[in-house]
Amino acid sequence: MANKRDYYEVLGVSKTASAAEIKKAYYQLAKKYHPDANPGDKEAEAKFKEIGEAYGVLSDQDKRSRYDSYGFEGVDPNFNAGFGGGAGGFDFGGGVDLGDIFGDMFGGIFGGGFGGGGRKNAPQQGKSVGARVELTFDEACFGCSKSISYTRTETCTKCHGNRTADGSTPTVCPTCHGKGSVMVQQHSGFGINIASRPCDACKGTGYIIKDYCTECRGHGTVQRQHTCNFNIEPGVEDGARIGISGEGYCGVNGGPNGDLVVTISVKDDPVFTRDGANLYCDVPISFADAALGAKITIPTLEGKGEITIPEGTQSGTTFRVAGKGAQKFRQRGKGDLYVTVNVEVPTGLSRASKDALKNYEQAIGDSNMKQRKRFYDAVSNRINKK
Ligand SMILES: [Zn+2]
Ligand SMILES: [Zn+2]
Repeated sequence: MANKRDYYEVLGVSKTASAAEIKKAYYQLAKKYHPDANPGDKEAEAKFKEIGEAYGVLSDQDKRSRYDSYGFEGVDPNFNAGFGGGAGGFDFGGGVDLGDIFGDMFGGIFGGGFGGGGRKNAPQQGKSVGARVELTFDEACFGCSKSISYTRTETCTKCHGNRTADGSTPTVCPTCHGKGSVMVQQHSGFGINIASRPCDACKGTGYIIKDYCTECRGHGTVQRQHTCNFNIEPGVEDGARIGISGEGYCGVNGGPNGDLVVTISVKDDPVFTRDGANLYCDVPISFADAALGAKITIPTLEGKGEITIPEGTQSGTTFRVAGKGAQKFRQRGKGDLYVTVNVEVPTGLSRASKDALKNYEQAIGDSNMKQRKRFYDAVSNRINKK
């Protein structure tokens, strides 16, 4: 904080200057010393910061009165103990929103011009590539390896993206100092405007290149067919999106590659349906097996299995077979298999079978068919009440 000039002196205004006078003085000085209007001029840059700091304090009533009473210490962020516990000193560099100030003056042409945010040659991540992969039911359950080919933008291997014939780093444009644009003063009916326009010397690129790389014709990038091999983990679900880092377009100005984003679709299976790691299947069984109980064959992902259904199993009963589902995606363990048994009513019976069934029907009574009895009892009650 040594050798700081008085804020009023910096802006060239009196101690009793009005807010409007301070604002006007600041705008005039800011225009004059703006780094975009003085590329590469360190002294102008320092002046610009100085006037920014002064304006940050003097444009704020509270800070201004503290400054008037206590000097720099009154607005020093490191010296705020006595001022309401950090009620906010001047946050240098961030205290004045230059974008706002210049926004309403010049339509935002300075927006992002500071701190590299809008720099022409800032590193940027490359674009991501989207792809869709269709898996069989088993591929999704067990995992698989896939390979996709697509055209992507890659850094030119001849010039390493430098765009020059010999592959060397291009010279930064001395006119615009790599910004690609220059500030020009324009006289209009309202006074002097400052406007940005592309730099002629480098045609807005920020670099001067005499001989361009012949491989990429000076683009620094080329379009290439690329094949990406990747593994899909077991248990992936329909609709899942899997990002494969770095397999997209190459980055710009040294930025990282984009990603490959694979959307998974899973084909239906004739036997199973799936919800997460759990599998479901419907198994038709005979009336005799349901009534007498039986060992029935069930499908599993690996092949076949067997379950025992008890005597008197009703149609639509579901049995859980623990651990016979699919692998859980990115987790340990497996889901379960749910088997729903459905009694199939036989068709096309032989005379012998029909006779056997008729005998059976004679043999059973209400105690064997509890649901049927309950139902017709309820029907009778309903009619009798009328
Ligand atoms: Zn090249
Ligand atoms: Zn230039």
